[in-house]
Amino acid sequence: MASPSQTHTLSLTQITDKKPSGASCENVEVKSINAQLLMVAQASLKLSLLADSPFPGKITWGRSSLRRSWLRSLFSASPVWLAPLTALSFFVTLSQYDGSLSKFVAAISQEGFLPILNAYGPRFTLKGTLAYTCWIALQATLFKCLPGPINTGQRTPAGHLLAYRTNGLWAWVITHVLYVALCWFGILDPGFVPRNWGGLVAAMNLAGFLLSAFAYAKAYVMPTHPDDRNFSGTFAPLPFSRLSLITDILGSAPFDFYMGIELNPRISELFDFKLFTNGRPGLIAWTLMFVPSISPPDTMLTLACRDISNIAYQYQIHHRVAPSIVLVTILHFLYVLDFFVNEAWYLRTIDIAHDHFGFYLAWGCFTWVPTMYTLQAQYLGLYPTSPSTAYLAVVFGIGLAGYALFRSVNDQKDRVRRSGGKCSIWGKPAEYITAAYKTSDGAQHESILLCSGWWGWSRHANYVGDLLLSTAMCALVGTTEPLVWFYAVFMAVLLVHRCIRDEERGSAKYGASWEKYCRQVPWRLVPGIW
Ligand code: NDP
Repeated sequence: MASPSQTHTLSLTQITDKKPSGASCENVEVKSINAQLLMVAQASLKLSLLADSPFPGKITWGRSSLRRSWLRSLFSASPVWLAPLTALSFFVTLSQYDGSLSKFVAAISQEGFLPILNAYGPRFTLKGTLAYTCWIALQATLFKCLPGPINTGQRTPAGHLLAYRTNGLWAWVITHVLYVALCWFGILDPGFVPRNWGGLVAAMNLAGFLLSAFAYAKAYVMPTHPDDRNFSGTFAPLPFSRLSLITDILGSAPFDFYMGIELNPRISELFDFKLFTNGRPGLIAWTLMFVPSISPPDTMLTLACRDISNIAYQYQIHHRVAPSIVLVTILHFLYVLDFFVNEAWYLRTIDIAHDHFGFYLAWGCFTWVPTMYTLQAQYLGLYPTSPSTAYLAVVFGIGLAGYALFRSVNDQKDRVRRSGGKCSIWGKPAEYITAAYKTSDGAQHESILLCSGWWGWSRHANYVGDLLLSTAMCALVGTTEPLVWFYAVFMAVLLVHRCIRDEERGSAKYGASWEKYCRQVPWRLVPGIW
């Protein structure tokens, strides 16, 4: 298992941030002038300027979205309104309709969706908003100031190789110690989160939208790496006719807002928005809720908190703690802690290496993760179930096996990439394909595609582990209630979709080497099935 201490630690001066082969000062100047030209063009919508590609060497193995139809763009961006409505609906279902989606649907078909949301949805409170602001400020300070090893990510389509300080484990520990200490000395009410859950959900939604809007605007006015931006239509560096301008704007703006334009937005050398957003505010909060609330919460709405807070609530209301909620909590804990112990591995995943920073990651990590990934514990806190011990033992075993597979597969890829192929997998020297690819500065690079161990079994065995784990988290609740199973279904859709888009990108990036890899490892997910 890789850990920050095992990572090859580099000093900042060792990091090669974009050294195009043969790049001269002249080239760099030309690029910078081109970038400024692009911004002027974008601001004034001058077709003549836009028709000339400011990045003639732009390659296509990044996000493949140039010139998509406006209808497809609008459809692809529909999660911008669908996901918040889903999260709010689930919030109301848990607090008002016994966690039953069928009761919620029956109610909205009688009374209408908006009246119900208006009556029972989360509301802004001063306390909730202030607390959430302090929470983000604390996490940003820890992210910025704590020491940690410097690791490099993957080379970007424009050729940048960025440095990241991975101090997440320390941030996680300090946050939890601080929280316990504040509660211990009576400064913070341990039941604060359950009591203010509605206000916190409202604040995290607002924060997610604001961050997405900031990311969108920043990409135009203050991009960190202009040549790593991706535009889906309007400002795509391709010639287009005046007639298509409106449809391009209509189509591209929602999609760019949703999927993001900048690949690695930063506000200083090491303050990377993606690493911060994806790891800190959402994931740390997930396990922070393990600190039990000892004060009785006052309304049903504020009770739908998470994990151990839910355990505490279950005990207060039902005078017992069902084994299922403890086991769900252990699996959640394992998953979150794994992320921080192996934070350097995360730099080589799709989230950091390939996905651009927009609503999908910003709102998703600020709001979707804390509200929707914890549904099982929220449900159990309110409505305990009693599956048999044998059932729980089998399902928990499947969950642990899923986690072991998830960690083992991810670890194999990480080791082979880190060691340049010089490592052993399952006791034998790693087998891999050396695949060449080009970045848009024209430089040629090489990467490694592992073909042995789990990566010889299927091309995405890590997803299989994750699917087993998420299914076990839902099954442990011991109910067929769709709300509880939502997480497993969501993960299945997300990961199958990821398989497909990752295959497209791999093929565009590595060409013949990717085809060779697919011939050698023919199965995407599960051998014999897909
Ligand atoms: P991977 O960690 O598998 O990363 C995919 C990338 O790895 C590819 O784009 C490619 O990048 C590289 N790669 C592909 N094949 C090989 C190979 N044979 N050898 C070496 N490198 C290869 O996928 P994800 O980032 O999607 O997922 C990481 C983990 O996070 C998974 O376990 C997943 O289940 C989990 N996850 C969890 C989510 C959640 O919400 N809970 C969401 C998403 C993922 P390159 O261009 O560098 O070659």
